Amino acid sequence: MKRFILGIAALLVAGCATVPPPPAPAPAITQVELRETMAMLSSDAFEGRMAGTAGETKTIAYLAERMRAAGLSSGARGPTPYLDPFAIVARPARVVAPTGKSAQDVFTAHIEQLGNLTSHNVVGVVRGRHPDGRAVLMMAHWDHLGICAPAVVDKICNGAIDNASGDAALIAVAERVAHMGLDRDVWFVLTGAEEWGLLGAKAFADNPPLPLASIVAGFNLDTIAIAPAGARVAMIAAPDSPLEPLVIEAARAMGRQWDGDHEADNFLRRQDGWALAERGVPMVMAGGSFSDLALLNAFLKSDYHQPSDELRPSTDLGGATDDANLHVELVRHAASRHFKIRPPRVERVGD
Ligand SMILES: [Zn+2]
Repeated sequence: MKRFILGIAALLVAGCATVPPPPAPAPAITQVELRETMAMLSSDAFEGRMAGTAGETKTIAYLAERMRAAGLSSGARGPTPYLDPFAIVARPARVVAPTGKSAQDVFTAHIEQLGNLTSHNVVGVVRGRHPDGRAVLMMAHWDHLGICAPAVVDKICNGAIDNASGDAALIAVAERVAHMGLDRDVWFVLTGAEEWGLLGAKAFADNPPLPLASIVAGFNLDTIAIAPAGARVAMIAAPDSPLEPLVIEAARAMGRQWDGDHEADNFLRRQDGWALAERGVPMVMAGGSFSDLALLNAFLKSDYHQPSDELRPSTDLGGATDDANLHVELVRHAASRHFKIRPPRVERVGD
């Protein structure tokens, strides 16, 4: 019975934790604007956005300019605004080189040829109006596999869905949040070298520009142009995530159904959010792409990490647009002083 009462108390805390701030009007994010940003990032001019290459230089300059134009402050520590450098240590080449000729093999061989280098996370901040020492984080990786198939006609892995889709959504959310007058600081971090093993996210977690303990909620966006408009909202997070009530409430506010079966949880360690989640930061990947595993698997078995991950007129951005707007709602709640995450579960059986 006591357990039951504790459970109710936890629910009540979670309930009042999500009182929204006064509504600030934010024009809805549209498919047109996401398509425009994705078209730019996934164009051949960006050379597949591989960390440590000319593709990186072009990509991070473009993203930094988008953050500046959106009105974000730089959150970076390097000499160039918005560009937060981190070191990548050269990998010893494997004794046995990869024998396959898949894009992933070409990418891996390319990594092994590179020496020590510097890559960058692109970091911007919207300062809160009523700061209380807490912050909200949004992440998406900008990098992809680069020139991944030198021998064939289409040699560039453009990474339209992985992850120009997440980048476009993050920029669009930042453009709204910059004008919403939210209480808390909101950090926007576009990470590098995710495809190398979450290196940018790990560098951010190792040497964070804000205390990790101050982050009340973090949202990672990766590969979000999978589902059509109106898809149910699922989430990927560490077990018993304190953010689940927030995601459920935001889904409801957006008129979307909740999919709580957690069937995509085995992707938990395969995304940037893990680099922070393993250090105790409440991180979640929320959206439609993880509610229909058949659709997600169809992508993973076809265009994923191939030169064919390109933006086409037929690419459906309905779900990505829904998810971008969902994240405006998520950030709006989490950046309110009224939002407190559920305290750790109390297990005191028998007292
Ligand atoms: Zn990838």
